[in-house]
Amino acid sequence: MNRDYTFHSYTRTMCSHCQKLIDGKIVYNDKGVFLIKNCPDHGEHRELLEEDPEYHLQKVQYDKPGTTSKLQTRVKDGCPYDCGLCPSHDQHTCIGLIEITMRCNLKCPVCYACAGQGKDLELKTIEGMMDCYMDAEGGKAEILQISGGEPTLHPDILDIIRMAKEKGFKYVMLNTNGIRIAEEEAFVRALSTFKGGFEVYLQFDGLKEEIYQKLRNESVLEMKKKALKNLNRCNIPTTLVCTVSQGVNDDHIGEIIAYGMDESCVRGVNLQPVAYFGRTEERDRLSRVTLSGILNRIEAQTAGLLKKSDFIPLPCDVERVAITYLFKNKSGGFIPITRGKDMREYKHIFNNTFIFTVEDTLRNFKDENIDFGISDCCGLVTDIKKMIPLGFIFKSKNEKMKFVDENTFRISASSFIDSYNFDMKSMQKDCVHVITPDLKRIPFSAYNMIHRGKYDGYYF
Ligand code: SF4
Ligand code: SF4
Repeated sequence: MNRDYTFHSYTRTMCSHCQKLIDGKIVYNDKGVFLIKNCPDHGEHRELLEEDPEYHLQKVQYDKPGTTSKLQTRVKDGCPYDCGLCPSHDQHTCIGLIEITMRCNLKCPVCYACAGQGKDLELKTIEGMMDCYMDAEGGKAEILQISGGEPTLHPDILDIIRMAKEKGFKYVMLNTNGIRIAEEEAFVRALSTFKGGFEVYLQFDGLKEEIYQKLRNESVLEMKKKALKNLNRCNIPTTLVCTVSQGVNDDHIGEIIAYGMDESCVRGVNLQPVAYFGRTEERDRLSRVTLSGILNRIEAQTAGLLKKSDFIPLPCDVERVAITYLFKNKSGGFIPITRGKDMREYKHIFNNTFIFTVEDTLRNFKDENIDFGISDCCGLVTDIKKMIPLGFIFKSKNEKMKFVDENTFRISASSFIDSYNFDMKSMQKDCVHVITPDLKRIPFSAYNMIHRGKYDGYYF
């Protein structure tokens, strides 16, 4: 009898019972891509890695070398126990995340941080964490996410954002559930003073109260709408961040994207399949939502506006992030800039970052074109040039950012690694790193899987 799968590759993984490192096999069939692991003490387990084998098999074609940055630890016990960053890690920090408090005004059943009652970090500690991140990236750290718990509960939140801007982070994001933004207009006005490289990353799981009841244990839809109203009023760039859970809101992705496109402050939607850490209850793992499953659902739920093929695995982390940019056309509608283009041809002109700057893209194209003769065979660069206004290159940094903010819409899917789907190769390219109070940088998934408990003393 034949096996029910085709063998693809070996990886290092862990037993989800005892968390011992063991070998694993990545295999696929027409139902998906699976990780098969055999623990000497706990037997064989099969876990779903991706719902769409085609996506999984082709994503490596978008991969490119990672960027180096300073290290904080040595290789000793093996990945993911040596975080970090240790010399085995293959990517710098694209997004550094600082959890400034563990207090929260919600108690979500899917909270990775188990937030609720907790402590705030002192300003001095937070400053040290920002400096550590900036220094590790050679003074050029790009994106800082201020997170928690609920960071807007920190009494010094405005000073913290101000400090981050003064330290020169290109982009500062505020991860929030939106309650304070909905309730306090003066606070929103204060946030609006940070315009230019500042964004609200707003938890937003759908347009039905049942969804919030299940994921957040509260009916908060009206609060979310009020928060968006306030953000619109002050024109604060906002990304809607949606936790996607099988059978709860995975059929609602299309309406979330359509809703976001209609809200003037919303610049993008990020969709995150739920991962099994923190308070999240483990459910049927073989039918969990995966990154490629999100792309399939987007195509099925957006009536032709978006196709799966419009998304590319993000070259800085092809394993865990897929993205597309839409440009506003003259009639105010959006078209994916990647549509019909073979983006593999262009992977070298994108920096290892989440930030898309027209300027960097054009400059990189010019440099690579001179050095390696890369051609604009699919017309991507020509299309970008057609979309930007005359004299764009001579505008100020803030004006350029504002143009991109107001004329593009970013849709991304990013998935996390838990002890069930842990694939070491994928972990070592993770580019979202938690900056810890003891000045380490720990990949977000590794932090939630293994390391978070060590930091309880700082937060609880
Ligand atoms: S996740 Fe990265 S930093 Fe952590 S142990 Fe693995 S390679 Fe090292
Ligand atoms: S997920 Fe966010 S809003 Fe919910 S309890 Fe955790 S920190 Fe609070």
